[in-house]
Amino acid sequence: MKQAGPRVLAVANQKGGVGKTTTAINLGTALASIGERVLVIDLDPQGNASTGLGIDIMGRSKTSFDVLTGAVTVLETALPTAIPGLHIVPANADLVGVDSTLTDQTRAYRLRDALTALASQLRNMPADQGFGYVLIDCPPSLNLLTLNAMTAAHAVLVPVQCEFFALEGISQLKDTIDQIRATLNPQLEIQGVVLTMHDARTSLSKEVAENVRAFFGPKVYETIIPRNTRVAEAPSHGKPILLYDFDCAGSQAYIRLATEIIERERQNQAA
Ligand code: ATP
Ligand code: MG
Repeated sequence: MKQAGPRVLAVANQKGGVGKTTTAINLGTALASIGERVLVIDLDPQGNASTGLGIDIMGRSKTSFDVLTGAVTVLETALPTAIPGLHIVPANADLVGVDSTLTDQTRAYRLRDALTALASQLRNMPADQGFGYVLIDCPPSLNLLTLNAMTAAHAVLVPVQCEFFALEGISQLKDTIDQIRATLNPQLEIQGVVLTMHDARTSLSKEVAENVRAFFGPKVYETIIPRNTRVAEAPSHGKPILLYDFDCAGSQAYIRLATEIIERERQNQAA
């Protein structure tokens, strides 16, 4: 069976440490575990998604930086992971130089162009070799890398950490998405907002969750990712939480999130 192009989601929030990478890795794994074929693109010079999916620095000979410069295609760069159906385009510190390397007017469109080329390559391949989802792990900044991700994406997935300054910077993020919709990418929308590192024992987590729901309304997923030490331990073993400890609360939450996202995609397609 031939396939349509993959659905591209940018996991973005310019605030640091809110759970972008953890969400990209574990949502990717959860989607793959329920039968989707997924490509994670690591677009952060920190390379945390690559490390967390078990790709050590020596194994990153071709990276997302090379995709942005046009030196290689996405398919030439995508590496298999320990999870069947989950591939990753890794990143390393080369991405730090992207601003000075890409100087022409196409600089914000590089990832979009690479993913358009991918979609046409996939059209000539059997569905069981393609990708249904591309998840882009963005850096904690609204820089050229995040701009490339949002220009390439159909929608943005925003992780929001359940802590005191959760909504700080959120209106700036929303403004950026609006600006990109008005200029670089008219179709861009917010797929959803995921509450992360929620601690059910604290009233602060509860309060933040309520505030975020008041701000974003139905865009906020029902699934809340709990704060869970197993989730934090997993990357140091180069494993997503679903492989590290399938039964823990964090794993189960990411499976529920994956189900919810697929359901939302179905509703969007039907609308
Ligand atoms: P950056 O902005 O630096 O890219 P990020 O937004 O990608 O950060 P993560 O790296 O995913 O955030 O998470 C930040 C830290 O919080 C990491 O140490 C991670 O292991 C931990 N963490 C993320 N989610 C959870 C969770 N549900 N429970 C416990 N710890 C978590
Ligand atoms: Mg990260």
